[in-house]
Amino acid sequence: MTSLTPNQRRVFDVLLKADASLGAYAILKKTGFRGATQVYRALERLVDLGLARKLESLNAYIAVSAESQSTPSAFAICDHCGHIHEVVEAQEIKQLHECLAQLNFKVERTVVEFHGACSMCSDHSHEAKESPTYTKLKQG
Ligand SMILES: [Zn+2]
Repeated sequence: MTSLTPNQRRVFDVLLKADASLGAYAILKKTGFRGATQVYRALERLVDLGLARKLESLNAYIAVSAESQSTPSAFAICDHCGHIHEVVEAQEIKQLHECLAQLNFKVERTVVEFHGACSMCSDHSHEAKESPTYTKLKQG
């Protein structure tokens, strides 16, 4: 892994352990850093390195899988429980990138986020089972 500063490492660890995406303030609380600037600097670097992604629609961050670091990915965000499913190697996004390349458009950043209900939340027979994690996964 690319060398990370202790601050970046700490923020990355917090993101890795999180069940859901985290806003900068939640990360600040979990890391115990003195100021938000440290968090934002670390996040910026982690995003640059491809280790984390900003979910624009939530204004929150998540750690991303190793496979998605070099390939465009999409995120399916459950608005009910906060679960985020990362769609790695989405062929359609790749095709869009190829289309844009033909137009000589250089893609620097791709944001593909879907909002809805995950399989657990759309399947009402699981309602009783999943209630314990319901509040835990809410946005901080
Ligand atoms: Zn859900």
